[in-house]
Amino acid sequence: MPDKITVAGVPVDTRHWIGGRRVASGDTFTDVSPIDGSVLGEISRGTPAEAAAAVAAAKAAFPAWAATSRAERARILHAVADGVDKRLEELAVVETTDNGALLRSHRRGVMPRVAHNFRFFADWLLTLEHEDFETRGHRNHVSWDPAGPSVLITPWNAPLMLATWKVAPALAAGNTVVLKPAEWSPLTASLLADIAAAAGLPAGVLNVVQGYGSEIGDALTSHPDVRRISFTGSVPTARRIAASAATQLTPLSLELGGKSPLLVFADADLDLAVDLAVEQYDNAGQVCLAATRLLVQESIAEEFTRRFVEKASRLTQGDPRDEATDIGPTIHPRQLEKIDGFVRRATAAGARAVIGGHAEDGRYYAPTLLTDVAQDSEIVQEEVFGPVLTLQTFTTEEEGVRLANDTRFGLAATVATGDRARADRVTDRLVAGTVWVNCFFVRDLQAPFGGSRLSGVGREGGTWSFDFYCDLKNTVTAPEGWQDH
Ligand code: NAD
Repeated sequence: MPDKITVAGVPVDTRHWIGGRRVASGDTFTDVSPIDGSVLGEISRGTPAEAAAAVAAAKAAFPAWAATSRAERARILHAVADGVDKRLEELAVVETTDNGALLRSHRRGVMPRVAHNFRFFADWLLTLEHEDFETRGHRNHVSWDPAGPSVLITPWNAPLMLATWKVAPALAAGNTVVLKPAEWSPLTASLLADIAAAAGLPAGVLNVVQGYGSEIGDALTSHPDVRRISFTGSVPTARRIAASAATQLTPLSLELGGKSPLLVFADADLDLAVDLAVEQYDNAGQVCLAATRLLVQESIAEEFTRRFVEKASRLTQGDPRDEATDIGPTIHPRQLEKIDGFVRRATAAGARAVIGGHAEDGRYYAPTLLTDVAQDSEIVQEEVFGPVLTLQTFTTEEEGVRLANDTRFGLAATVATGDRARADRVTDRLVAGTVWVNCFFVRDLQAPFGGSRLSGVGREGGTWSFDFYCDLKNTVTAPEGWQDH
């Protein structure tokens, strides 16, 4: 197989990146574009031995990187950010070709944020303050020690964005990492390895292993030299990883799925509420944060639905490279089948498809709105991860909050209301890691991000990421016992 493939005019290395060298596997897997099913190339299919080699490389590089001054680490991470900026267009087209999300979003939103991830954590690193205080004349010195080699496992729906959300703080804190991108979107992680090397990141500090989680996951997550595991993905995989990590008691950060509500009260700005609802079809609904349960106050439900259908019907679905496209393909025909299965079971159980309810072809699923759904039904309780929303009504605020909280997830919630007092009451009671009021997807890395219940364990962002990737150490020094020299 060739070591390099050309994707949308950009050369991409198909091998692992281990200890500052490209390493090819004997076996490969085929990477396919979700846009049209075209084969992009053969990618190294990692083995447990290669996963172990990546951990060994990370372990070997750790002491020197951990001892590198904070200022130098920050300088290199800024250089990585500059490298991302310089190759922004290439990253955007490769990502779109590989995962099917809109090119215009990658160009203007996602890739600038990838660069920002590195700048933000580089700058934050310099603000971390060691704490000193005294206990009966003894000096306490609390320091942030890098934890060690960290394994970072990421999904396909926002590949480079989610990967760098982990890579940047892990490296800033002085850890070395092994990144395992999703097998449906392996390409931009390989480009990141090139960018990091060109920015001067020493060999072994960032390693990338390609392949199937089911084949190399265990070798990474049960490895005794791994000190942290950060995972973004589905609940079933998280359970496997947690069990595997438990063998070494390795600390875990888990960012998982959701079934988030959008609560629309009768006092809301209806146009804004409809805009917020239609926005949930972004990335063909393959967004962990998507508010897929529309909960609308009874008195405005008819008018809301009318305006929603009018607006959603104007969305254009098609090639994500086209600037005019609003909704691209699903990642893989298997994902589409899964989505269709959810919708078929829901309609068989009595749900009504107000719009959509079917695949457009083997890759594109029509934006769908289902009504007449029961609160305890699968379609209301389980994450679909596709462009499928349900609409339920409520009468009182109490009922709205109860329905909003009534799933096993707790990633996010959105509230549309014109009443500030109501907003305060309702947000106080919602179980979610992030709550938006009259807005959606406004994110700041300074804020904690993560989920309650099955949506995750731990938080990422600012302080919380450093807390996770560091071992906090308190050194107590007695005033006596010194020899004068
Ligand atoms: P997934 O769990 O199938 O795969 C995620 C990653 O885990 C992939 O890299 C995969 O190869 C790897 N993996 C699979 N089995 C493994 C194993 N046994 N050991 C180690 N790694 C293994 O998830 P997905 O389908 O790629 O992503 C979609 C899911 O991710 C959805 O549930 C979505 O909500 C969630 N997600 C959450 C967030 C968040 O921030 N909370 C963000 C994006 C996506």
